[in-house]
Amino acid sequence: MSKEQLVVRKIKDGTVLDHVEQGKALKVLEILNIDGKDGNVVTVAMNVSSEKLGKKDIIKIENRFLKPEETNRIALIAPRATVNIIRNYQVVEKRKVEIPDTFVNVLKCPNPTCISNSNEPIAHIIDTVRKNPPLLKCRYCCRLFLPNELI
Ligand SMILES: [Zn+2]
Repeated sequence: MSKEQLVVRKIKDGTVLDHVEQGKALKVLEILNIDGKDGNVVTVAMNVSSEKLGKKDIIKIENRFLKPEETNRIALIAPRATVNIIRNYQVVEKRKVEIPDTFVNVLKCPNPTCISNSNEPIAHIIDTVRKNPPLLKCRYCCRLFLPNELI
């Protein structure tokens, strides 16, 4: 077993995010709203050697099985990330991430005067105009922006 496998394996149940671009792990946790407050063990490994990426980050979230609509947000930050769902130490599902067509209540419009940033009880809705490279648009004020303006 290689060193890399040792880092990735070993959780009983949960989600492993592998092939996260080097240095992006904390941003990925942020966009997933994972802050450790639910008490589950979250392990972050940064700068792990990878044949594919040179260096990469790995995130292991125990006892949570992230759904595609959650993990697809990661594609804005780490488009090459792979999602491994682990049950009883086995990878039962492996998938890639893909930028969704719409983000609802995930990202906030960067326009301070946008109605979605007022006190109105409306959802934050951001549409994907282009996926590669990503270009996003607020559904309310129609402002266009790049992911790094939001995250
Ligand atoms: Zn807006």
